[in-house]
Order: sequence, then C-alpha cells, then structure tokens
Amino acid sequence: MMSRYEAVIGLEVHAQLKTESKIFCACSTAFGTAPNENVCPVCSGMPGVLPVMNEKVLRYAAMMGLAVGCEINRTSIFARKNYFYPDLPKAYQISQYEQPLCEHGFVDITTSAGDKRVGITRIHIEEDAGKSIHSPSENKSYVDLNRTGVPLIEIVSEPDMRSAEEAVAYLKNLRAILLYLGINDGNLEEGSFRCDANVSIRPVGQAELGTRAELKNMNSFRNIQKAIDYEIARQIDLVEDGGTVVQQTRLYNPDKGVTAPMREKEEAHDYRYFPDPDLVPVVVDDAWLEAIRAALPELPAARRARFMADLGLSATDAEVLTAERAVADFFEGAAKAFGGDAKKVANWVMGDVLRVMNETGLTPETAKGTPESFAALVTLVDKGEISAKSGKDIFLEVWRDGADPAELVKARGLAQQSDTGALEAVVDEIIAANPAEVERFRGGDGKLMNFFLGQVMRKTRGQANPAVVQQIVKQKLG
Ligand code: ADP
Ligand code: MG
Ligand code: ZN
Repeated sequence: MMSRYEAVIGLEVHAQLKTESKIFCACSTAFGTAPNENVCPVCSGMPGVLPVMNEKVLRYAAMMGLAVGCEINRTSIFARKNYFYPDLPKAYQISQYEQPLCEHGFVDITTSAGDKRVGITRIHIEEDAGKSIHSPSENKSYVDLNRTGVPLIEIVSEPDMRSAEEAVAYLKNLRAILLYLGINDGNLEEGSFRCDANVSIRPVGQAELGTRAELKNMNSFRNIQKAIDYEIARQIDLVEDGGTVVQQTRLYNPDKGVTAPMREKEEAHDYRYFPDPDLVPVVVDDAWLEAIRAALPELPAARRARFMADLGLSATDAEVLTAERAVADFFEGAAKAFGGDAKKVANWVMGDVLRVMNETGLTPETAKGTPESFAALVTLVDKGEISAKSGKDIFLEVWRDGADPAELVKARGLAQQSDTGALEAVVDEIIAANPAEVERFRGGDGKLMNFFLGQVMRKTRGQANPAVVQQIVKQKLG
C-alpha cells in the first residue's frame, strides 16, 4: 500500500557481555542464583568503596566496535547517569556519555527493499541495574541486586531504518555478530539481548524527523516486528485524524498486540551526567587495538559472501546458514565431508537441523551427531541408497544421538532397491495384473504413473527407488 508517510526507526540495543565477574567488582554474573547472592559493597553502592574496571569488558566492547567498523576512541570517559529508582542502589548508573568507546560504525542489511547500510552512532559501556520484583498479593516489592553491575554495551543506531522488516534484519545481524564474537549469548527472552525501538513517521519527502515514541518490552524478534508495525499504523492514523504524536515511552503488550504509554505524562529526564570522579579515563593504545583486530574471527558478512562465492549458495540460504556460528560451522563441516553440491546439504540443514534444533533445544554443540555422520546420511539419500523419507526418519537419531546412518540402514532394512533386474521383475508382474491401467497409460493418461509407482512401492514395502521404477515403467510402456 502506498502511504503519504514513511516510518523512521532508530534502535538502542543493550547486550550483556559474557564475563564471569561484574564490571566494577569481583561478584559473579551467574544467572539464576538466589536473590542478592552475588552482591558486595561495591555493586550494592555502599559509601566509601571504589570501582575497578574489569579489563575483559573493555576488550569485548572494542571487539564489537571493530566488528561493525567503528572508530575506537583512544580516550573514553565513564560518566554518572543520575536517577532515583529502588533497583539502583547508588542512585546513579555508571555509563559513558560524552566520550563513548566506539563511534561511527555500520551494519549492512538485505531485505525485500534491497541492500542498505544502517549507521551505528555509538557503542558505549555501562553497568546494568537491579531488578524489582512486585508481589501484589503481599502488597510488597522486592529488590534483587544480582544483576546490578553486570556489564552491558549499548549499541545505538542512526534513525536509518524505514520498516519493521529492516529493523529486524538489523537486529538479527547485530545478534549474529555478537554470537560470532562469543561476547553475548543473544537471548532475547532472558534479556541478555534487549532492544528499545524509537519510531516516528513523517510525510514522504520531508527531511526533518517527526516526534518519536520509544517502544520497550519486546522480547522476541516477532514481537519487535509486531510492535513497530502497530506503532507505525497508530501514528499514521493519529496524524491523519488531525492529532499529533507526543514523545513518550510506550510498552508493547504481547497479549493484545498493541503499544500503550508507560506513564501518562512524560517528564523530561534530567540525568545530570558528569564524569565519574572514581574512575580514570579509559585510555587504549594502538598495539592493544591491533591485537584485538587481528584476533577477530571471520564475521557473518564475510562468511555469507564466502558461502555464496565458494559453495554457490543463494543470498537467502547464506543468510540463514550464517545467522549462528555453530550452525554455520556444522553446515560447513558437513558440506566439506559431503563433497558434492553444497545446496543439497544446505537444504537438510535449513529444513531438518533447524527444525529439530527448535524442537529439542539441542544445538550443534550439544547434539552428538557430527558433520561427518550427517554428511553420510545426506550421501545415502543423494545416491538413492535410501529414500528421502527413510533419511528423514533416521535423521533425529543421527543428529541427536550420534548414530551411524549406515548401521541404522542395515539394522532396519531401509536400503532402497535400485537393482534394475529385480525391479523389472516386479514391474512386469504389475503390468500383467493390470491390463486396463496399462491400456489407459498407453492411451496417454500420464497420471497412471503414480498408480504403477504405488503398486511397486507396496510390493517392495516402500523400498524401491522411485526414480528407477519410473524409468522402467516408461521404458516398458512407452
Ligand atoms: P535518547 O538519549 O533519548 O535515547 P537519542 O537521541 O540518543 O535519544 O536517540 C536514541 C535513538 O533514537 C537512536 O537510535 C536514534 O537513531 C533514534 N531516534 C532519534 N530521533 C528519532 C526519530 N525522530 N525517529 C526515530 N528514531 C529516532
Ligand atoms: Mg534512549
Ligand atoms: Zn559486587
């Protein structure tokens, strides 16, 4: 549908860095421990303590900056962002404001609208806050400080996206890069990868940005897509009815599929940022940065290009197969072991492997099957030694349990009959027993091929190679 309006979207992503200890103290970052177990005087904001920065946090943040083409500031500064909330014991969050670690990067995306470069304004380091747990039945609220001081990077995009599809493509790219780097576990549901979406609309052709709403509380790609689509439609309706969009934070309600204002009236925040006097400026040198750059793994974009150029995959297939490093590794190992047309292996990975991963929660790392045993299965089907259906039937055991496909085929008698002599005898029998069908087939009723195939399948208990059977029938009745 053509609209007089276009949407403008900018995203803020908070990604939890996979360190064992918190950013400014030695407390554990382990998920799922008892409330307030991982807390010390530093992260609980006792007076008189001093934060000491975890070097790994800086390294991880720089890795991400380099991976998305950012400039890394040789000096960056921690600042205090002041606000009052029960889950923030210091009454300020340590963040970076005026001089973040990384600036001016980009991510390239491909959508139905084509290829596009989405700018990254900045990536800065900050600490997470705690968690409030409300108990309406007791009329009480509890605070859990385990998450206080867990390291985050915030990745802020330029307002470069024009649709929910582009926003999701950008987010999937970011997530893939974080996973390839091994610095974040990419879990939207548990909140280790969180996204706030800023959405506005403007008349097509207008350069000036419209007033935005900031959407929160989306914990899946699907919900992000739905929240943004809803919000765009809401703003267009509002403006077309003569209303004006107000700047506000809106929460997505996944049950109703709508966004609603978080607070009735948005007071302008004044965080009174100032440099944290307890922390020295972060200074990094070229040698340190170059060592990090040299150690970066191959990233999804490069891998995608390689899968297309070397293995002949389409852009879409390459995108799906590189979204997660473990899947890409598994596919690449299997394609190599298979040796033939990699597209055949790709189809199995995109179909069966991804489906079973979803169903069982097993990843290529936790499943017992190897790329080699999986390639052996694809080979059996490709050579016609077993039917595609038998292949699908034993796939789960090969992949999940590490079963040897050749042994399963032997133990279950799944070998497909491709022996022409034996199959010819069966076809002869069927031709003799069905003169009427033979007549019709010869008269040009090609649909009867399925009848003959079905009969042969029944006689051979499904083990005849269908391609060979069809060839024999054509030869005998053609
Ligand atoms: P804040 O400090 O309030 O979070 P920023 O100016 O840093 O605001 O912007 C945050 C995010 O909002 C960025 O990703 C930016 O691209 C996006 N953004 C800013 N203005 C708009 C707008 N009018 N429409 C859509 N997105 C916007
Ligand atoms: Mg913001
Ligand atoms: Zn602590």
